[in-house]
Amino acid sequence: MKALCLEQPGRVALLDVEPAQPGPGDVLVQVAACGICHTDLHYIDHGVPTFKTPVILGHEVSGTVAACGPEVDKFRPGDPVLLPAVFTCGVCRNCRTGRENICERMRMLGNHLDGGFADYVVAPAKDCFPLPPEIPLAEACLIGDALSTPYHAVKHRARVRVGETVAVFGCGGVGINAVQFAALAGAHVIAVDIDDRKLEWARRFGARDTLNPRSVERVEKELKKRTRGGVDIAMEVIGKPETLRAAYDSLRPGGRLCVVGYCAEPVTLAFSKTMFFELEIVGSLGCRPGDYPELIELVRSGRVQLEPLVTGRYPLEEIFQGFEALRRGEGLRGIVLPGERRAA
Ligand SMILES: [Zn+2]
Ligand SMILES: [Zn+2]
Repeated sequence: MKALCLEQPGRVALLDVEPAQPGPGDVLVQVAACGICHTDLHYIDHGVPTFKTPVILGHEVSGTVAACGPEVDKFRPGDPVLLPAVFTCGVCRNCRTGRENICERMRMLGNHLDGGFADYVVAPAKDCFPLPPEIPLAEACLIGDALSTPYHAVKHRARVRVGETVAVFGCGGVGINAVQFAALAGAHVIAVDIDDRKLEWARRFGARDTLNPRSVERVEKELKKRTRGGVDIAMEVIGKPETLRAAYDSLRPGGRLCVVGYCAEPVTLAFSKTMFFELEIVGSLGCRPGDYPELIELVRSGRVQLEPLVTGRYPLEEIFQGFEALRRGEGLRGIVLPGERRAA
């Protein structure tokens, strides 16, 4: 089969590889779709190392069970499934205390394990989730990361409540869903992005107000003015020192900064404000297994928009065009469809 392999940080190639065989407790999944994520660009463009090399990239996968290894009774061949981006051990201290998303022995698709930019992928059956027939199989892949990461962030970390004012900094594939979930939770959402098209999308996903930082002198000042004192919650879904600072500085007293974006650089914040105004800073990583059934039901029942999130579709052979679109900041989420072959 063809697969996108990261041979070493910064070097990727489409290679012919043998599909893996499912071991005890595993399922072999024929990939319907795999989402293209900024995390992939961190490995490809920014030299962030993966735990295994070479590794097949791709961690946002939906598909159909093709074969079951020994000791699998949860699925049968032909079942539509969602793969979570991360598999948890279930027995470490963090798993035992309900914080599986920071599992001490977590294994991530397309990082510790071969991922979904391929025709087939192997995953532990216990971690996979059945998908109802009402959810389109290809688009469902986005539940694995682009929906689950902001769901956990909004619900468990930012702890958004009815009537609160939430500013979401960065409205790409993940941020747009932070907008969607915060709006669903009953918050007044202000979307912040330098791309006016993304702000338009944010309105369609429930933002009541938008702000392009390029249209104002200081974004935090403008937010404080519009909210008469600052936002209750700022969610940073970009991972840049300047946006982290702006998000932090836009909080009202007692406010909370929720950090979802990955920032490799150190950031200077005025911590006197954390003390004086009892600000909170919380990080958010991925989601917990228990979030998936809730999310799948939210999508199935139509309370969460899924299909409009897909703004690019690529056969595996054209995946590099998908990465290019992401680098240019185009669209919301591109997905790779390994079952579709490039037109001859
Ligand atoms: Zn991702
Ligand atoms: Zn664990």
